[in-house]
Amino acid sequence: MWQRILGMRILAAVASAMILALPGLAEAAPRCRNNGSFEVWLAAFKQEAAAQGISRQAIAAALDGVTFDPAIIRRDSGQGVFQQSFLQFASRMTAIGRYQNGLQQLKANAPLLSRIEQRTGVPPPVVVALWGLESDYGTYKGGIYNVIRSVATLAYDCRRSAFFRDQLMGAVRLVERGDLKPAEMIGNWAGELGPTQFTPADYFKHGIDFDGDGRVDMIHSVPDALASAANLLKSFGWQKGQPWLQEVRVPAQMPWEQSGLDNQHPRSQWVKWGVAARHGAPLPADDVKASLILPMGHLGPAFLAYANFRAYTEWNAAIVYATTAAYFGTRLAGAPPVSPGNGQPVVPTTEQIKELQRLLIARKLLTGEADGRLGATTRPAVKQAQQKVGLPADAYPTQELIERLKAGR
Ligand code: CA
Repeated sequence: MWQRILGMRILAAVASAMILALPGLAEAAPRCRNNGSFEVWLAAFKQEAAAQGISRQAIAAALDGVTFDPAIIRRDSGQGVFQQSFLQFASRMTAIGRYQNGLQQLKANAPLLSRIEQRTGVPPPVVVALWGLESDYGTYKGGIYNVIRSVATLAYDCRRSAFFRDQLMGAVRLVERGDLKPAEMIGNWAGELGPTQFTPADYFKHGIDFDGDGRVDMIHSVPDALASAANLLKSFGWQKGQPWLQEVRVPAQMPWEQSGLDNQHPRSQWVKWGVAARHGAPLPADDVKASLILPMGHLGPAFLAYANFRAYTEWNAAIVYATTAAYFGTRLAGAPPVSPGNGQPVVPTTEQIKELQRLLIARKLLTGEADGRLGATTRPAVKQAQQKVGLPADAYPTQELIERLKAGR
């Protein structure tokens, strides 16, 4: 999977409906030019790999004869924007078939999942939910591309070279360590491997041999793939026995500007503001800290995100994906389906978001271009604008906000 890097991440769903969350390249990297041939670049990369101590044999096995693949660049440049509301995305990604299959997988793999929890602290429903979202429990084989060729092509390409150089180095190290042969490295066009969609660099760094055969084989070994996924969450700071996400009920009015992952408060404070558990035991008024997240604004679904939620945003910076994955984990742990919330939030169109962004840019609340994406820079600007015009500051764009901003110009 992709994470931490420029806020980009592929959402690998099922093969028929691959959903991509890479930002536009204009946002991801400055305009740039490639100078020099791929062959010259590759020769220099081989030298660097040798300088890092990787054996000549592994470098040759991994990189000899690798060629540039223009199809990868076309694929990379032509992606659509990830633009679905939380309810749209979550209901599609956690539909009944995948939910029931997840419950079956929990049962069928109970001993393995229990050993993974002992080793990493990550509970079975969390692991199985990610497995389900990333590959439909291994049904989606992770792509048809030669990963070394793909990441070499993207590393040569100047736009996100540093990130993909790391990936290519990770792939060469996997060959050296004997985890995978180059020919086995078949995966996503951007280099993700196996049913939990690991990038080569994460595979090398966080992969675990959990079936004891002496190599980390996340492509063919379910124990290796699932233990590695849990291990990656652990590396992101997952705390054993702690909650990650909890659906809540919000009152009609409260200081909405306190919502969002940037704000954390003890549960006692949330209780004071009228936040309540949506199901199960009452929300304890204790000092456990959490953020209130409102993926579709104050009229939509509401969750308390605990410290462990951060592991999800590290896994995938796209908040709709992170929330969906965490929510699916709670579903498999026994929570009922998400409530649509207190109202019927209208999902803004790309055109509405663009119009709003232009207004925000004109008011110097936002910099950059109006790209129609409701991302990590636009949401805080929306919140500021809402505060200025006296609307509930939940960071969710509405037509009313657009009208008020227009009227105020
Ligand atoms: Ca193994």
